[in-house]
Amino acid sequence: MSEPTTAPPVIRLRGVARTYPGAVAVHALHPTDLDIERGDFVAVVGPSGSGKSTLLNLIGMLDRPSAGRYEFSGTDVSAIRESERTALRGRRVGFVFQSFHLLAHRTATENVALAQLYVTTDRGARNDHAVRALRTVGLDHRLDALPPTMSGGERQRVAIARALVNRPELILCDEPTGNLDSATSAHVMNLLEELHAAGLTVVVITHDPAVAERARRVLTIRDGRILTDTDRREAA
Ligand code: ADP
Repeated sequence: MSEPTTAPPVIRLRGVARTYPGAVAVHALHPTDLDIERGDFVAVVGPSGSGKSTLLNLIGMLDRPSAGRYEFSGTDVSAIRESERTALRGRRVGFVFQSFHLLAHRTATENVALAQLYVTTDRGARNDHAVRALRTVGLDHRLDALPPTMSGGERQRVAIARALVNRPELILCDEPTGNLDSATSAHVMNLLEELHAAGLTVVVITHDPAVAERARRVLTIRDGRILTDTDRREAA
């Protein structure tokens, strides 16, 4: 067999910046270069207002840069149409937020199955995939539970199952443990570590040093600039 060719990074930013226009424009992200390789586990830390969510929204294609070039797995997504970006995001990126964003009147399985509307019209397949993802996060016993009857940790695991269900290349988490106590946070981080060990690329925004120290690489961001970029394997 021939040598595998080197895959492009999942995330490649070149001079990517985001300015929010207004009476006084906010330079939320100054021109930034960043590569995140496939299978990496990266934490982004920094004070409130430093630009973490702005960076995550750009990486997740929820927002467009004001300047610069963004390649997602080798595709220049600064140049493609909105509909293509939406499709790419729906199929290849999973999101996990602090406040779970689950539908209260839908079961765990339905919440996860809904994330596949973009991907397949086959309801049976959607249901099967949802059950499989909920098994991955250890929730096989809560398939029919409604979110209000679940603990915070269980809800976040449903949200992680929803992020996983389309087998994305990248999971983006914005303060995933922000609403959880420390023991439950540790369980959620164990799960993210397992997903990383299974080959997924994981990027986590966090205020919590206990969360950041689980990551392999830690970026600190301040005033819209990446200040430090630490490889924790080398640092260890
Ligand atoms: P963090 O996630 O680190 O708290 P953000 O990325 O949310 O930081 O914000 C970075 C800066 O951009 C802040 O000064 C914030 O007030 C500003 N900002 C964020 N979103 C918007 C927006 N939609 N319009 C105007 N300013 C914004």
